Amino acid sequence: MTEAKILRLNRAGVPLGWLTREEAATAVVNDKVIWTLGDSTLQIRGGVNRAGKQSVLNLPTIVACEGRVKLDDFHPPLLNRYLFRRDENICLYCGVSFPVAQLSRDHVVPVSRGGKDSWINVVTACRRCNHRKADRTPEEAGMELIAIPFAPNRYEFLYLANRLVLADQMEFLKSQFSRKERWPALVEG
Ligand SMILES: [Zn+2]
Repeated sequence: MTEAKILRLNRAGVPLGWLTREEAATAVVNDKVIWTLGDSTLQIRGGVNRAGKQSVLNLPTIVACEGRVKLDDFHPPLLNRYLFRRDENICLYCGVSFPVAQLSRDHVVPVSRGGKDSWINVVTACRRCNHRKADRTPEEAGMELIAIPFAPNRYEFLYLANRLVLADQMEFLKSQFSRKERWPALVEG
């Protein structure tokens, strides 16, 4: 089962990644958390004391931590699991939703024609559409894209990288989404 994680921000509030409950608990205990956000909490169980009582720590769902992190230009890795989630498992040619096993990565401008393997030149396509389009551009194949491919920004990528985004975390990330305001929270699977 997928476990909810804690969204880690830097001091300035830029999201950097996801922490497990154990990692977040360590940050809290070591006083590395500067401020927190979110209106829900996640529990982590600690050790059992002599009286037989187990300690419970309530963790915020969003934490800003100490530590210098260099913010370089953001280059999200192009993996099919992120790509398919960007496109919500929908083939961008026929508009039908498919199970992941039936999806593929299509290069809008084929690689053989100089197209790049980059976020803005790839779309989710069902095998049938991918096969039909073959080594052609959408115009040549007479197949229109139902959405324009885009490179996820830092906020969008953190959404794509976690299968279980809580509502308050979603609210935070969504404020900086460039395209997909309708991506659902609490995606499991
Ligand atoms: Zn299709």
